[in-house]
Amino acid sequence: MGTLRDLQYALQEKIEELRQRDALIDELELELDQKDELIQRLQNELDKYRSIIKPATQQVHKQTELQEQQRTKRQAISAEPTAFDIQDLSHVTLPFYPKSPQSKDLIKEAILDNDFMKNLELSQIQEIVDCMYPVEYGKDSCIIKEGDVGSLVYVMEDGKVEVTKEGLKLCTMGPGKVFGELAILYNCTRTATVKTLTNVKLWAIDRQCFQTIMMRTGLIKHTEYMEFLKSVPTFHDLQEDILSKLADVLEETHYEAGEYIIRQGARGDTFFIISKGKVNVNREDLPNGEPVYLRSLGKGDWFGEKALQGEWILKNKSNQDSFKHLIGGLEDVSNKGHEDADAKAKYEAENAFFFNLNLADFNIIDTLGVGGFGRVELVQLKSDENKTFAMKILKKRHIVDTRQQEHIRSEKLIMQEAHSDFIVRLYRTFKDSKYLYMLMEACLGGELWTILRDRGSFEDSTTRFYTACVVEAFAYLHSKGIIYRDLKPENLILDHRGYAKLVDFGFAKKIGFGKKTWTFCGTPEYVAPEIILNKGHDISADYWSLGILMFELLTGSPPFSGPDPMKTYNIILRGIDMIEFPKKITKNAANLIKKLCRDNPCERLGNLKNGVKDIQKHKWFEGFNWEGLKKGTLTPPIVPNVTSPVDTSNFDSFPEDNEDPPPDDNSGWDVDF
Ligand code: ATP
Ligand code: MG
Repeated sequence: MGTLRDLQYALQEKIEELRQRDALIDELELELDQKDELIQRLQNELDKYRSIIKPATQQVHKQTELQEQQRTKRQAISAEPTAFDIQDLSHVTLPFYPKSPQSKDLIKEAILDNDFMKNLELSQIQEIVDCMYPVEYGKDSCIIKEGDVGSLVYVMEDGKVEVTKEGLKLCTMGPGKVFGELAILYNCTRTATVKTLTNVKLWAIDRQCFQTIMMRTGLIKHTEYMEFLKSVPTFHDLQEDILSKLADVLEETHYEAGEYIIRQGARGDTFFIISKGKVNVNREDLPNGEPVYLRSLGKGDWFGEKALQGEWILKNKSNQDSFKHLIGGLEDVSNKGHEDADAKAKYEAENAFFFNLNLADFNIIDTLGVGGFGRVELVQLKSDENKTFAMKILKKRHIVDTRQQEHIRSEKLIMQEAHSDFIVRLYRTFKDSKYLYMLMEACLGGELWTILRDRGSFEDSTTRFYTACVVEAFAYLHSKGIIYRDLKPENLILDHRGYAKLVDFGFAKKIGFGKKTWTFCGTPEYVAPEIILNKGHDISADYWSLGILMFELLTGSPPFSGPDPMKTYNIILRGIDMIEFPKKITKNAANLIKKLCRDNPCERLGNLKNGVKDIQKHKWFEGFNWEGLKKGTLTPPIVPNVTSPVDTSNFDSFPEDNEDPPPDDNSGWDVDF
């Protein structure tokens, strides 16, 4: 049993133990305090770093996000020039391959089931059915190889094929399917591989045959209408361009005997020309009274609301002018393209200055851009280092290989002639054995594309300013009978003030007035439906692309966009009404976009009787200072930071091009450049 002493001893021990524990606790508490302090210090440090690093990381974040949304520059495409002379086209005889009624039905059904081909007219489908020829493949053969250049489209009649892309299986297809459609639009590489799983029977048609069918449908109709109009005494002395435009807007309508075409008192704005049959004109003097017979009209006679103006036309000597006002799209060139004496003298002095320069008079400073056909360098005049220019350098070989000689030639001619503040000036050109050189005004504010990429999208007013710059450029070009055909943010550059200018006239073409052109060209997201359907296109295709540009600037992406060009074209053919407009597009902006992106080119704003004025007076532009824009007194929404004539900081950096192209032997190159 323990004595008191033992107990005291134990107690002593416990007290000592407790004291030690207390000491340990104190020690640990101290450590804890120190650690807390350290944490606090690190926390502060971290906050400091965060506040510095934050915007940068956000930016990285934003950029990767944008990259995911595919913010890469888009390559323009262009078909080879049309194989036939347009005039001869209606006389070309197409091959005819007899086939059973079952085969005909199968091909027709397949075409009507295809997102692209179902948009063709029935008569066109009929001709395609007749022209398709039979092709057979054994099991395990390759019909189409990804990456190869193709020119045939197929309809499968019998068997089974497998479609793969980059080695991955996409699907299998059986009878009644169309494939390879992109190749009938223009020369391009196949986007997928098609292999047979069984013996396969196909029908095929090539691009040339397909395009002939597509083109001549419209042409034959147009020629028919022209001939008809010329047979009408009132019209037969009208200028070709006016007649042609009239033929464009003509639409055939049929009325049964006894039907009313127009009722007295009803509002109407249609002008009718009788091509077949007879109509009576009656007047009702009293409501409910007997109609009074006035006269009857026959073939070649015309009537309707606009006929009132027509009557005036007959009495008025300026027959041509009145018709121009009636249909529009034929703005008067005579006063618009006119330059006053001062301007003329200025351009002549400029020409003389540049005429005396050589390639050796320039230093290369930096690369401004890389495009499909070459590079654009910032160059400096050795004799006056404050004078800098943009020099576009094109590889001759590449131009010949891609058969773009005509495009390059017209790029030079059109740009050199273009004297507008909204179009990049081309001062002169040079050439040597390997390259062509275009000496242009340098616009150092950077590409609109880069600014859009960095900002994501633009506000309404910012978009309005750039759209207005394009409207001015288009008004200038169109008044000279030139279409541009490659509008996109990549081809708009800002000068040091922040004004946007059109650059890259590779696809621009002088077509004149009331004329059309047929070569497929443009950038997939921006091409108009009539280009895809090979109906012939004119300046109204530019107004279509203006609507697309507005949409892209306001939202950051174009309205019609698919994973591959064919899908994009199919979405375009469905029309603007199938597109959901994000909330940030205001009502007025949406209204203008929809008026620019009408399927029917004759209905597009900009191409109506008041021409480009209709766009300038649209509600979305209400209050916009067009005069200030033209004079350059309007302050741009974004003023770029350009510190000197050699400041290229507003452009992305580009890797050097080390390829040394072979000199051109000048075969196929008679171009006076
Ligand atoms: P692509 O046909 O593929 O669009 P391209 O080879 O025809 O290209 P351009 O579009 O004319 O070439 O020029 C390529 C890029 O170079 C332009 O997008 C632009 O960034 C830059 N660039 C061209 N001209 C000028 C200029 N005058 N001033 C400043 N930069 C320019
Ligand atoms: Mg370009």
